[in-house]
Amino acid sequence: MTNSIEITKAKTSKIQDVDFENLSFGKIFTDHMFTCDFKNGEWQKPEITPYAPLTLDPSARVFHYGQAVFEGMKAYKDDAGKIWLFRPEDNLARINKSAERLAMPAFPHDLFMEGLKKLINIDEDWVKPGFGNSLYIRPFVIATEPAIAASPALEYKFLIICSPAQSYYSGDVRVLVAEQFSRSANGGVGFAKAAGNYAAQFYPTSLANQEGFQQIIWTDADTHEYLEEAGTMNVFFRINDTLITAPTSERILDGITRKSIIQIAKDADINVEIRPIKVSEIVEASKNGSLKEIFGSGTAAVVSPISAFSHKGELFEVPKQDDKYSDKFKNLLNGIQYNTLEDPYGWRQSI
Ligand SMILES: *Cc1c(COP(=O)(O)O)cnc(C)c1O
Repeated sequence: MTNSIEITKAKTSKIQDVDFENLSFGKIFTDHMFTCDFKNGEWQKPEITPYAPLTLDPSARVFHYGQAVFEGMKAYKDDAGKIWLFRPEDNLARINKSAERLAMPAFPHDLFMEGLKKLINIDEDWVKPGFGNSLYIRPFVIATEPAIAASPALEYKFLIICSPAQSYYSGDVRVLVAEQFSRSANGGVGFAKAAGNYAAQFYPTSLANQEGFQQIIWTDADTHEYLEEAGTMNVFFRINDTLITAPTSERILDGITRKSIIQIAKDADINVEIRPIKVSEIVEASKNGSLKEIFGSGTAAVVSPISAFSHKGELFEVPKQDDKYSDKFKNLLNGIQYNTLEDPYGWRQSI
């Protein structure tokens, strides 16, 4: 088996039909995709081919037992036209950790990095410069083996697809603190970027939407007393000048944005506490005026400020803040990502 990537270029590009000023997230995909099949116990010849639908047997196990994991990452273009990735090896490590939990095979490091960089190079015109513009990259793995026995598949497909993205203003984000539903539990798959985690969130989130909340802050499954994640983002609280976030665990996803923010905050001499956070503590802080900020963190928006939360029918507004930590972190991270600031951490990688 050879690892050299076989490349088949698209005959024509779709790019001239795309309105890059009015992109809705995740609907338009670039001209090419990366694929690699797992069969007979090993990864087969990787390919870059024109973006196209897949043909799968209806008995492919992904449809029945949900063996599917994914990642979300971005490429950024600087004003000189150079393209950058942000901590891409961490995404690979995480997809392999997710895969292991779902009894799926790990994908090789060198093949991932080479496939990713070649794919982006081929579709480089799809990465637009300017703050906010990026290429959203979606690596994922699905169980393709046609057999509906309830056991791990013997065949898989690894893919990378890419979608041009703009920064979007999410508006006022109000969240509902979960009192009944949970997204994860001890011993479960909360730490994995498993497709099924998202499927299970849609229903409770749609109920919250009907009540006028955009997202749910997930609490621990046992007591609903501890704050864990906001929607599909990690969550930070600022009480006075202390930044607090829950420790990662088998329930909480180890976000790359989260750990980058923790590092940046520590280096800016901000007091950071990584510890379990009780709902009652945030309610109390809100009442006594020491709660300054709540924000989610994730690749898509970097930070997403939360303006209010509801708990047991009571609404708590987060007061407007002039000197927001969330703005500071977003600016610093964007500066590193778009190559306008120095990167003392070595997080940025050119392609
Ligand atoms: C992807 C994800 C995050 C954010 O991770 P990043 O690496 O920062 O993008 C947080 N929580 C959940 C549940 C996620 O799926």
